[in-house]
Amino acid sequence: MQVLRPTYRTDEIIEALRPVLDSGWTGTGPKCAEMERAWSDYTGLPHSLFVSSCTAALHLALHVLRDGRRTEVVTSPLTFVSTNHAIRYAGLTPVFADVDESLCLNPQSVDDAIGPNTLAVVFVGIGGNPGRYMDIVRLCRERGVYLVLDGAHMAGTRVETMVDGNHTEWAHVGREADAACFSFQSVKNLPTADSGMLCLRHEALHMRARDLSWMGIDRSTFARSSGAYKWGYDVPEMGWKYNGNDIMATMALVGLRYLDADNARRRELAALYDAHLDGVERITHPPNTSRHLYQVFVPNREHTIARLTEAGYGCGVHYRANTEYPMYKWSRGATPIADAMSRHILSLPLHLGVTEAAIAEIATLL
Ligand SMILES: *Cc1c(COP(=O)(O)O)cnc(C)c1O
Repeated sequence: MQVLRPTYRTDEIIEALRPVLDSGWTGTGPKCAEMERAWSDYTGLPHSLFVSSCTAALHLALHVLRDGRRTEVVTSPLTFVSTNHAIRYAGLTPVFADVDESLCLNPQSVDDAIGPNTLAVVFVGIGGNPGRYMDIVRLCRERGVYLVLDGAHMAGTRVETMVDGNHTEWAHVGREADAACFSFQSVKNLPTADSGMLCLRHEALHMRARDLSWMGIDRSTFARSSGAYKWGYDVPEMGWKYNGNDIMATMALVGLRYLDADNARRRELAALYDAHLDGVERITHPPNTSRHLYQVFVPNREHTIARLTEAGYGCGVHYRANTEYPMYKWSRGATPIADAMSRHILSLPLHLGVTEAAIAEIATLL
């Protein structure tokens, strides 16, 4: 049994793809636009840009937020390397802050890491868990730095937000951030094969990111240029080949219909693990997260991995502290809690193919 595994509604996807293939248009087209509208409706985020990956979304977000003055981005070492690579792609410098018991950034450590040169904070919701995200939102506002959400694991996570002073409601995570990035990569909660979404709060930045996601081609001049084959467009600045396509968008539109039900099932399976793993130290989530991962702490990880593998169960580590890698080693030792947790975390199988019997058996092997 794999640790992560997508469930595709194969027949439905193939039916939905047929007219797209027959139309002769599989590039960035009406299905991308439809997915952007559907994602904005689903999340309540005003501007959605469908792109080729969450990594591309993170890079574009940081690129358009740059102010030509501040060059540092406070980030987590406990993440998939693409979070921190994206900071480097944008020509910025990652400054590693430490995490708390949720494996997400600790607001105190972020506060200490923010300085006059800080442009933004990137918050990663590990496993779909918002951790102390709302405290980070407040902190970023107080300190005058941008907040970028790496919501790669967070499709479907709701957080409790204050509306009109004294009453709260559960809303999709991301509205509070200057940019929210989501992944629809093949093992994430809304799997396509590879694609992602960039939701920028400000419309002007969103429009610029849209052009930059397609080589920097100015779409207003593209729309104006005449004829069936449009060539008379302008390219005011360099962009990248980060545009989404109608094949991925079609898969995403089918998947989105199932996201809430799938996430509810993930939470049920997590609750079942909880019931079996009474004495085992584990990462807890608040209600209404996407439950992308089920993570425990184990004293001897090699030993546990060997036992699970022997019994046919995959498991994973999300993640090794990035400062252990040669390219980020200059920051080694700066985040002791992340380093310690990184040595003991283990992700157990969590996806729609996990059975109750498997959970009971896995529990006996820890
Ligand atoms: C998967 C992932 C990404 C990158 O997503 P892609 O769509 O594969 O580029 C970024 N951050 C985290 C935490 C991830 O798990």
